[in-house]
Amino acid sequence: MKKNWLVGVIGALALLGLLGIQAVSAQAESPFSISLRRDFGYGNGTSLQGRLSLHLKGDSAQVTRVDYLMDGKSMGVLTAEPFSLAFNTDDYPAGGHQFKARVETKDGKSYETAPISANFLTADQAQTDTKAILLPILGITAVAILISFGAQALMTRKSKTSAVYQKVVYGALGGAVCKRCGKPFSRSILGINIVVGKLERCPHCGKWQITTRASTQTLAEAEAELEKQYQPAPAAQVGAQETKDLLDDSRYTDKL
Ligand SMILES: [Zn+2]
Repeated sequence: MKKNWLVGVIGALALLGLLGIQAVSAQAESPFSISLRRDFGYGNGTSLQGRLSLHLKGDSAQVTRVDYLMDGKSMGVLTAEPFSLAFNTDDYPAGGHQFKARVETKDGKSYETAPISANFLTADQAQTDTKAILLPILGITAVAILISFGAQALMTRKSKTSAVYQKVVYGALGGAVCKRCGKPFSRSILGINIVVGKLERCPHCGKWQITTRASTQTLAEAEAELEKQYQPAPAAQVGAQETKDLLDDSRYTDKL
């Protein structure tokens, strides 16, 4: 008899254990879940600021009532589709929050969804975060533009004083005709690309301008005009200094 009693207790415990496991798994297998969406504002991972909305996932046709909870406190109850709740993070304290929903269905059952978390930023924090992302990009762009200006200024400086005509050698980007002096020049790969063309410096007069690729015809005309302006220098008159200038000039031209 004593043995039967023991079996009964063990059986009862086992049954309780089994029920316990079932209760846990019933909660884990909630047919509903929630998602948090950013409708407008700042977002970086789970750090959010602005207009957000909570949405129910699951068979919403069976749902009669949804209570959205933030840190265990009700944010709002919905009794009709689409069971979505919009709100603004500025209306709640900044920091980490946990969200879940209590869902009631037509058959009288109630479920609790698995929690999701988010970190609310203040408007100031969001602005600081945005700056932290944007400023380096703006900085790199500014440095690239400065390098382009500097390099072009250096490369075009010398030929301004050139006394002897040299045939213009055009690079992969073709040539352009200066809008101020009308002289042709090779378009620099260092030119700053802007939507309508490239920001470049004329190597003849030093004028900064937006260049577009000139046609072969236009370039040939400009070249002929340029050649006319130079008197062919007799070889004997080319002194040591001029030879050096020529060498320097050709070096710059080759780089383009
Ligand atoms: Zn020019």
